[in-house]
Amino acid sequence: MVRTPLVAGNWKMNFDHLEATYFVQKLVWLLRDAKFDYKRCEVALMPAFTALRSVEVLVEADNLKISYGAQTVSVTSQGAFTGDVSADMLAQLGCRYVIVGHSERRKYHPEDDANIVDQVRAVLAAGMQPILCVGESYEERRQGIELEFAVGQVKDVTRDLSQEEVGKLVVAYEPVWAIGTGMVATPQVAQDAARAIRAHVESAFGRGAAQTMRILYGGSVSSHNAQELISQSDVDGFLVGGASLDVEEFATIARLT
Ligand code: PEP
Repeated sequence: MVRTPLVAGNWKMNFDHLEATYFVQKLVWLLRDAKFDYKRCEVALMPAFTALRSVEVLVEADNLKISYGAQTVSVTSQGAFTGDVSADMLAQLGCRYVIVGHSERRKYHPEDDANIVDQVRAVLAAGMQPILCVGESYEERRQGIELEFAVGQVKDVTRDLSQEEVGKLVVAYEPVWAIGTGMVATPQVAQDAARAIRAHVESAFGRGAAQTMRILYGGSVSSHNAQELISQSDVDGFLVGGASLDVEEFATIARLT
């Protein structure tokens, strides 16, 4: 089965709505100039909440082939939860994806596995796709338990999901030691983790779900390492942080994927 690669830019807390608009316009020009084939590789942007409406307007007005989504979501649907944004609100803005369980959310906010499972459910119920982030810390890698750890995180989140729900997940293997550090995983490390995650999904949910599931690599991806990483058979694209803030670099990564 051929999986369409996905290159998703996680802008984190960068770019206001004007900067986001400029970025999208420039990205589309660059990709048009490069005769980029959106059917060969999907491109997605994950702006801050405040820029989502601007991105939506632009994508709709110009019928752009860019997908977009949010960086987190509330587990509740409505009510007295100051500062939260619900999955339905995001779906109404045309979001296709929501990043769930990013290591920065796990670190700086009280997001544990139970909360992450609820986010996944909320995203799926609203008709969007979660990009579930998993990955070990440097310490777990040092102890040699990195695969067990990353697969364990996938197991914990998917345990009670149906086969159909799991089929809609995108998993991003993001070793914490590689995020924002410039220490990219070797292609073999990324492949081993992606393969282990896919093997677990196959044994728990069947070959169909495993073969459809896109597994991304994230952690210091750049135009210098994207080509080698994507040549690995179980790596289906990238979640790009820092390099997604430079439009030319991001366009190059998309072209190489
Ligand atoms: C990320 O935060 O999801 C990420 C992969 O960051 P970076 O590319 O900067 O390592």
